[in-house]
Amino acid sequence: MRYLIFSDVHSNHEALKAVMEFLKNRKFEQFIFLGDIVGYGANPNEVIEEIKKISSLHIVRGNHDKAVTGLASLDYFNPVAALAVMWTSKNLKPENLEFLKELRRGPLKVNEEITICHGSPWDEDYYMFNKFDALEAFSFFDTKLCFFGHTHFPAIHILENGDVKTIYPAKFPFRFKLEDGCRYLINPGSIGQPRDGNPLSSFLIYDSGKKSITIYRISYDISTAQSKILEAGLPQMLASRLSSGI
Ligand code: ZN
Repeated sequence: MRYLIFSDVHSNHEALKAVMEFLKNRKFEQFIFLGDIVGYGANPNEVIEEIKKISSLHIVRGNHDKAVTGLASLDYFNPVAALAVMWTSKNLKPENLEFLKELRRGPLKVNEEITICHGSPWDEDYYMFNKFDALEAFSFFDTKLCFFGHTHFPAIHILENGDVKTIYPAKFPFRFKLEDGCRYLINPGSIGQPRDGNPLSSFLIYDSGKKSITIYRISYDISTAQSKILEAGLPQMLASRLSSGI
């Protein structure tokens, strides 16, 4: 089985279109999305409509998806993120708002091998950055693999003999083979707002037959995404951060 696993599009239609183009002649049986379809970018409706078209999609909601529907308070959002959430709620078509409202909270078990969540398996809003978070997280799911998003950093945490080793990939495409006897917490990075200092869109392909994970980075039309953010009257830093990947 081949899975396309992606996260944190954040209303960046240019980035999502580039990923879909990249996938055109490749075959996938399943798609997994780890939350935050919207927030920050200028095309929430277009991105939701693109996501709706994907068949065989497993999906959990992200903190932005939840906040724009009014299901979460804005108290934990920084002022720029909160502004983007309010702009998004105001600009969403009613049917797309409804779509976001119906998204499920993680963690979700996709099958006997895979669990998915937005932030962490115990709290959808928690940011798992380091191996200590990961060590704790392994006791909150029982599958070999758990995919998560939220931090916008591609990362692989490996549990072996009670200890966690963490890899932050730097060269792409990054290929990685899964071992028997290990368990994994894996973040594919962000499609629409990478924050690891690399502005390219990040996602991964999991081939369960070959037991391989490949994290890809691809370019997209950043300047169009930036102009749209500025034309929409969203904060300027939401546009500028896209070219530096922070
Ligand atoms: Zn996010």
